[in-house]
Amino acid sequence: MSIERAERLAAEVDERMAELVQIVRDLKNAPTGGRQHWVFIHRCGCAFGVMDAGDALGGAEERAAAWAAFYEEDPAAGFVAVERGVSLTLANHSYYVANYEQQLRDGCPHQGGAG
Ligand SMILES: [Zn+2]
Repeated sequence: MSIERAERLAAEVDERMAELVQIVRDLKNAPTGGRQHWVFIHRCGCAFGVMDAGDALGGAEERAAAWAAFYEEDPAAGFVAVERGVSLTLANHSYYVANYEQQLRDGCPHQGGAG
């Protein structure tokens, strides 16, 4: 395979990947009218916390409020979590059950993943 052909293929893969990432994001954030959840995720990708998100749409103010509520009793831990790369994602109930629920029960198996 030529370098040019490989570069074209790589560009195509990048394009498709960007589409997929957007599709996943849309599906995760799609308001369902049902239960939604804020899921707190370690840098390693493991979920470690969850909160009811009501009918949140995932906007910045909602995210900030969810973060503040989660770390309400220990705001310093919230700052440490930012530094450790903890992220917050909004998931509808079926996505939450399929992707995070079992993992939350099992816990994070990665060293250094603790946030
Ligand atoms: Zn982990």
